[in-house]
Amino acid sequence: MYIRLRDLISYTRNLSRSFTVGGTSRHLKWFTGGAAVTISGLAYYCNEKWDQAELSPEHFTKYRISYNDRIDSDHFMLELTPLESQKVDLWTAMRSEKLWSVQIKQPECMVVRNYTPLPLEHVGNGRIQRFSKGSYEEGKLFFYLKRYHTGEVARWLSELPEGHVIELRGPYIDHELPKQSNDKKSSYDIATFTAGTGIAPIAQILLTNTPFAGRILMLHSCSTRQDLGPLKPLLEEALSNKRGVLHYFESANGRDIRKIPNEVMALIPKPHTERESETSISPILSLVCGPDGYLATMTGAKHGLLQGPVLGLLAQKNWDSSNVFKLS
Ligand SMILES: Cc1cc2nc3c(=O)[nH]c(=O)nc-3n(C[C@H](O)[C@H](O)[C@H](O)COP(=O)(O)OP(=O)(O)OC[C@H]3O[C@@H](n4cnc5c(N)ncnc54)[C@H](O)[C@@H]3O)c2cc1C
Repeated sequence: MYIRLRDLISYTRNLSRSFTVGGTSRHLKWFTGGAAVTISGLAYYCNEKWDQAELSPEHFTKYRISYNDRIDSDHFMLELTPLESQKVDLWTAMRSEKLWSVQIKQPECMVVRNYTPLPLEHVGNGRIQRFSKGSYEEGKLFFYLKRYHTGEVARWLSELPEGHVIELRGPYIDHELPKQSNDKKSSYDIATFTAGTGIAPIAQILLTNTPFAGRILMLHSCSTRQDLGPLKPLLEEALSNKRGVLHYFESANGRDIRKIPNEVMALIPKPHTERESETSISPILSLVCGPDGYLATMTGAKHGLLQGPVLGLLAQKNWDSSNVFKLS
């Protein structure tokens, strides 16, 4: 469409030139002058449109809902396909060191919310898989979402039909991990403490094509592990071969972390300064992501955008603000 408009512009410019040669009539000059102004406006419009097709924090870009499916009444998955194929492979650009999100606009109440893209795609019949090696599927984005029954944006998203077009901007880097080496011996380990969809940033760095090179100790709180839907086998597979360990705390089975603090404490390691053995996980930093109440128990609340002091269970294991990062 844009290519054709560009052809039209250059065709009309040539036409305009051929008409003004020799300055024949006032009428013709007026026509060609007007056409030139209109055409340059059109060229500007086309270039703007062209640029706005690429995801950017500066403007909103249109994506079509290519898959929207419930996991249960509280969780759903959403796949978004850009109307124009993306030129930039954000997965290669971000690697696994940057935790990033995009903002989705709710046009009726004019609010945006951040969501964490995952390198996954729907391949038919409800099957979800990781992007094949080296592929970024021209910018498809996949999300694991919680539907708050009285929340504005996620509830609205959960009800949109496939084919519906929505607007996004981004990417936004929410946190950057220290650079890691691909050399297994000099990479470092991390511990992650997540609740609900707070697992999404960890899934992001685990499932990408250049996944986090160190080992990951994961403690995840949920109602039941089935809340994760298709993410569960993908995460467990990514953690196999001694890449990491995932412990579930399922509140529906009486294992709310507030009820069994001793069991949780026994699984939280002390902070390390380097990898100490090839067999156990020696985390040098901890990432914590979940609702306010979860953060309060695990590591102390955030103070607005500020991190706030490290308290809770992690503080009792000698973790502090030099090695803990709280995600929202
Ligand atoms: C960097 C980042 C990444 C994120 N990634 C994800 C992700 O991948 N998946 C995901 O599901 N979420 C993610 N989130 C959370 C997401 O941005 C939204 O906060 C979430 O979807 C809730 O938005 P909402 O508009 O649906 O609900 P909101 O309208 O914001 O409501 C949220 C909660 O507050 C309650 N509430 C609303 N209004 C009031 C009120 N007046 N008084 C008391 N309670 C009220 C609602 O009942 C609900 O429980 C991320 C957030 C950040 C900052």
